[in-house]
Amino acid sequence: MNRRQALRWGCTQCGAFAGLAGAQADWTAPPRFTRPDVATDEGGLWAMMDREETRLRRSPFRMRDPALEAYLAGIVCKLGGEHCADVRVYAIRTPYFNANMAPNGMMQVWSGLLLRVENEAQLAAVLAHEIGHYLQRHTLEQLRDLKGRAAFAQFIGLFGLVGMVGQIATLAGALAFSREHEREADRISIALLQKTGYDPREASKIWANLLDELKATPGADPTKDSALFATHPPSDERRAALETMAAGLQGGTFEAEWRARLAPHRFGLLDDEIKRGRPFESVALLDRLIGREPDAAELLHFRGEARRQRAADGDLDAALADFQAALKTGREPAATHRALGYLYRTLKQTQPARDAWRRYLELAPGAPDAALIQQSLEELT
Ligand SMILES: [Zn+2]
Repeated sequence: MNRRQALRWGCTQCGAFAGLAGAQADWTAPPRFTRPDVATDEGGLWAMMDREETRLRRSPFRMRDPALEAYLAGIVCKLGGEHCADVRVYAIRTPYFNANMAPNGMMQVWSGLLLRVENEAQLAAVLAHEIGHYLQRHTLEQLRDLKGRAAFAQFIGLFGLVGMVGQIATLAGALAFSREHEREADRISIALLQKTGYDPREASKIWANLLDELKATPGADPTKDSALFATHPPSDERRAALETMAAGLQGGTFEAEWRARLAPHRFGLLDDEIKRGRPFESVALLDRLIGREPDAAELLHFRGEARRQRAADGDLDAALADFQAALKTGREPAATHRALGYLYRTLKQTQPARDAWRRYLELAPGAPDAALIQQSLEELT
């Protein structure tokens, strides 16, 4: 089973969500969990998760920003109440949209998600959904359901495979929850958002945004074609169900707070996004982000890069316009000059290419690629 098949297998059960109405008003959180006996299936699952967590803690993919992880844990605590004491949150640098929470209290939040949410309420909506799976112990139910079936072996195989390809995923993350579990986690998420003052209407917007991104690639089937969503592929039914549940509710979005938290990381995460090599999706994402922040130089820079990578009709001119708009802000990253150099060279405009690369070397003399750019500069004719 290759990775794509693995992901597809993981997603067969999570397609449609229909017929929901109202948040789960009668639902109350269970009391804190105690560590299960190691001789039980649940104890075995926890032990497996503990081993995974040890690996995760030392992983080179961990973002190692204590302030960011503490902020994420703060949101989890707000949503999770007394369960907060049992949760550890890890921010993981990998450019895919995912969060998951293992039965032992290990929560992962991937950077592709951080890049895509527009405010704290959207982030809280995803975390609340994962907390919903945790509080209802869905992973254990799923494991018990899979036991003795060929699917369980496949599931364990997937776990190993995911580890092998260097993606950080846990058993819980690789596991496709049943449709019923997904609906329940969504209902709980709306209830938790409402209780803690976040706007529950933000939850459906996440999925609308992600669907737009996936539909951007010509011929793409959002339910099948993208590795962007390891465990929760966006579906229109789910979006609609969340919208219905949140209708008439309100709360805060905390967009400025979220933007300030993400700011120190965003350049690096955008760089990761471009390196994913899915320029149609990247352009759609950046169109959306630029719609909210038209003067953000780094967003303009990276949309230019995504367009340069895509190189469809009109893209090179549009990339040039983006880079020039970034320069106009006066806050362009040095990399914009490097990108402009490459673009002008492609357009056979030697002198502007030369000027751009010289400017890049002035601004970033110690850049790892400075020697390479110097050489390209000398080779320009
Ligand atoms: Zn879920």
